[in-house]
Formats: sequence, structure tokens, C-alpha cells
Amino acid sequence: MDLENIIIIGSGPAAHTAGIYAARAELKPLLFEGLNAGGIAAGGQLTTTTDVENYPGFPDGIAGPDLMKAMRDQSVKMGVNIKTATVDRIDFSVAPLRVYTGSEVYEGKTVIIATGATARRLNVSGEEQFWQKGVSACAVCDGPLPIFRDKTLYVVGGGDSACEEALFLTKYGSEVVLIHRRDKLRASAIMQRRVLAHPKIKILWNHTLNELRGEKLLERIVVKNTLTAALSEHEAGGLFYAVGHSPNTDFLAGALDLDEAGYIVIKNGVTGTSVPGVFAAGDVYDKKYRQAITAAGSGCMAYFEASDYLNEKG
Ligand SMILES: Cc1cc2nc3c(=O)[nH]c(=O)nc-3n(C[C@H](O)[C@H](O)[C@H](O)COP(=O)(O)OP(=O)(O)OC[C@H]3O[C@@H](n4cnc5c(N)ncnc54)[C@H](O)[C@@H]3O)c2cc1C
Repeated sequence: MDLENIIIIGSGPAAHTAGIYAARAELKPLLFEGLNAGGIAAGGQLTTTTDVENYPGFPDGIAGPDLMKAMRDQSVKMGVNIKTATVDRIDFSVAPLRVYTGSEVYEGKTVIIATGATARRLNVSGEEQFWQKGVSACAVCDGPLPIFRDKTLYVVGGGDSACEEALFLTKYGSEVVLIHRRDKLRASAIMQRRVLAHPKIKILWNHTLNELRGEKLLERIVVKNTLTAALSEHEAGGLFYAVGHSPNTDFLAGALDLDEAGYIVIKNGVTGTSVPGVFAAGDVYDKKYRQAITAAGSGCMAYFEASDYLNEKG
């Protein structure tokens, strides 16, 4: 079995950036891109979206899947060894570090984990049909798109993210309606105050999302009153889920320090983890920014940290 310098797990902007840097440094990185890992195609979250308008270098925007194909092509061109397999187990209690895909085992001096997070969905009727056709899991990413301008936009959720998304969307929609299943928001007091005071935001208390309707794009939503079970239909120009993300860290099985929500805990604001030689990049630890550019930036940082570690160990 070869001993790898750097094993990278993941296939989004963080993984490919780390791979490109490591390959250019002639470290011959091995990258596992996953096979529908976390329910998402190799390429990560951007494969689930249409236009990306905030990744620098593309003045006319670029389709998410095209951007990820370009990153993968660049990795291949630089010499990253890509395997289409999902890492299902690791053993970081040994040196070298071990990574497993089924019955195959790989050994590395360092490992970069860039497995991202998956935006939670609600699995309601019509969700699959209208995903990215009026329905999104990222207001900051998709809210400014023309299809959402001057429409009634809905946000599902009741935490800080839902409030932030609702406030952000007031710049684009004619009004924003927050659908919340309880009679009180979970968000911090300051976010609640801002949302409750905003003239363009309304709250549909004690309601859950029941069904999405439309022709090509989302046009209407059906919601259910949790107190009376009554259903009502509303015109909707857009719907944004803010019901949380699940970091793809199950396969780590407690080998690294994770926070209460399952995100990898990093040390000193850089990409080191609780295990020497193991680094984290992108949305698998970052629950604040969650953007392609920040994921790519942390992939670059993880490469430098891994490279320094390799140099220190000789
Ligand atoms: C609908 C939507 C629209 C968005 N639009 C934008 C936008 O316009 N601009 C922007 O900047 N950001 C946008 N984002 C956010 C952006 O997609 C993420 O911040 C970014 O993709 C995070 O990159 P990442 O490299 O950390 O991981 P991810 O993109 O999450 O990719 C990680 C991938 O690694 C693979 N993987 C997971 N587990 C394993 C495993 N065990 N073994 C092997 N492989 C594995 C999976 O394929 C996984 O999806 C959007 C997100 C969503 C959901």
C-alpha cells in the first residue's frame, strides 16, 4: 500500500482548492470525491443550484454544476488523483492515518476533511419538482436572482438563520413572510426585534409547510395551521428553507472533536483539528459564512497547514 502525503476527503470548492495547491507542490494528493455522499453528487452543494453570481471571475455568473466541473477539471489537470468513492470509516488512532472505502484501506501522513454540509429539506409534496425553480436553501446565494424580485417571498424556520434570511430578502421581495411552527421564534432577542419591527416582514405563527404548487416555477404554497389543522393556499414568488444544515461528519464516529451540532471544531481559527495531521476545510466546520469562496479559501489554508506539518515531520 502506498503511503500518501495528503488524503483529501470531499469534492466541493474546499477539497478541489486543497487538491490543486497540493498537486502543484508535487505532493501527489489523493482525493475521494464521494459517490452520492451525504445525498449530494460529487461536486458538492453547488451541483444543486443554478446560477452562481458571487464567485469572482465570472462576470455573467456561472451555473453551479459548471463551476464544479471546471474545478474538478483543474484538479485533474494539475495531477490530483481522484477516486469516486465515499469514505465510510477512518482510523486516526494510528500512524499513518487510515481512511477506508468499503474493504479498501488507504494510509496518509495527513488528511484534509472537506466533506461539507447538507442543507436540510422538509420533504413536502412538490419540493423535488420546484427545487431551484423558486425554492432554495440559501437566501444570500439566490435571493438577488431576478425571479425573486418584487414578489412575496416565504422563509421557513424560526432561528437566527431564518431571521437573517428574512431580513436579507426584504431588499428584493415586495414582502417577506416567515412560516414558523410555534408561537415564538427561537432566534436571539436582537434578531427577533429586528424581524418583528420590519415593515416588510410578516409572520405566519403556528404553521407548517404542507405542499408546493405551480407549473414550471413555484407559484403557490399550501400551509397547515398546527393548532386547527386547517390548510390554506397562498401565492408565493419564492420559498427559502432555513431549517438548518447537517455536517457530513458521521463517518468520523467521534475520532475528532465535533461541536454539539456535529461540525468539526478547529483550533486557533485555522484549519487544525483535535488530531495532529488532520485538517478541516469548508462548510464541514464553518457554520457562519457557508460560501463557495470561503470554502475555497479554507481549502487553501488547509493545504498550507498540512504542508507545514509534513515539513515539520520531515
Ligand atoms: C442551493 C444552494 C445554493 C448555493 N448557492 C451559492 C452561491 O450562489 N454562491 C456561494 O458562494 N455559495 C453558494 N452556496 C453555498 C456553497 O455551495 C457552499 O458554501 C460550498 O459548496 C461549500 O463547499 P465545501 O467544499 O465545504 O463542501 P460541499 O460543497 O458541501 O461539498 C462537499 C462534498 O463532499 C462529498 N462528501 C461528503 N462526505 C463524503 C465522504 N465521506 N467521502 C467522500 N466524499 C464526501 C459530497 O459530495 C459533498 O457534497 C449554495 C448552497 C446551496 C445549498
